[in-house]
Amino acid sequence: MCEVCQAFSDQAMAAGEMPQSVVIPSNSPVDSLFSGTQRTDTNISVHFAGLGQGPTVFENTPSEGWTAYERARVEAALTAISNVANVTFTVTSNPDADFQLIKSAAAFNSPNSLGYFYLPNGTGRSPGVFNSDGIGWTNDGLREGGTGYATVVHELLHGLGLGHTHDGINVMDGVTQPFNDFGRNNLNQGIYSTMSYNSGLNGTDNANRGAEAGPMALDIAALQAIYGANMSHATGQDVNALATTNSDGAASISIWEAGLRTLRLIYAKQRSSTKRVAVVLYQAPTT
Ligand SMILES: [Zn+2]
Repeated sequence: MCEVCQAFSDQAMAAGEMPQSVVIPSNSPVDSLFSGTQRTDTNISVHFAGLGQGPTVFENTPSEGWTAYERARVEAALTAISNVANVTFTVTSNPDADFQLIKSAAAFNSPNSLGYFYLPNGTGRSPGVFNSDGIGWTNDGLREGGTGYATVVHELLHGLGLGHTHDGINVMDGVTQPFNDFGRNNLNQGIYSTMSYNSGLNGTDNANRGAEAGPMALDIAALQAIYGANMSHATGQDVNALATTNSDGAASISIWEAGLRTLRLIYAKQRSSTKRVAVVLYQAPTT
């Protein structure tokens, strides 16, 4: 078995169909995503805290309230997650929900701090706080491919128990610092995991394009290991339309299709493809 991370290159894409299996050996980069905690329920309630409302647990950070657009973007991220893993999210007006979402600039002292989310503990409640002054927290940035949207997905995955690739109980092989340290096989970047601090591919994203638009391949593997796969999502012969220009809204995506039992991972740039593409992500060191 060879390492085929290069399958993401245009050359390999043009070559067509790749083996349709995902191999997760021991010492897998997926291990770096497990925080050691998870939810023990899978029907998760979500509350958007209104103006002046704080979470019911852990802290009292009042929310600025959410616009309809912001809520819709978070709900899109929740759908992107439930499409791949066996979890469901239900928005509720009950503030004492499982996920308690706060929007607050006052909770942060820099636009470089984008948000945080409490890791889960069984069926307990987790506040998540998002910086409305953070990079990418704009209408464009909250679209797929934008930094704001990637932040939402990243924080929600913390709420499900995923940790960063660069810290926690498991660190991705070869990674010693969070930024610009891509580790073994350059896997510590957004196109492989949105839990990396290196968004997109090779730092080519900006606030409005190129960032990961949902859980990426390693995230999907970790979520499915914990919660099981969503085996009813995309069971037919689906064609996935990719961006044809590298303009705002172009995104890095991973596609889970239960019908093909295949993980497709494509960097969307000036390309449209209906090829069935999957990749073997990693080979453990043999030494
Ligand atoms: Zn984080």
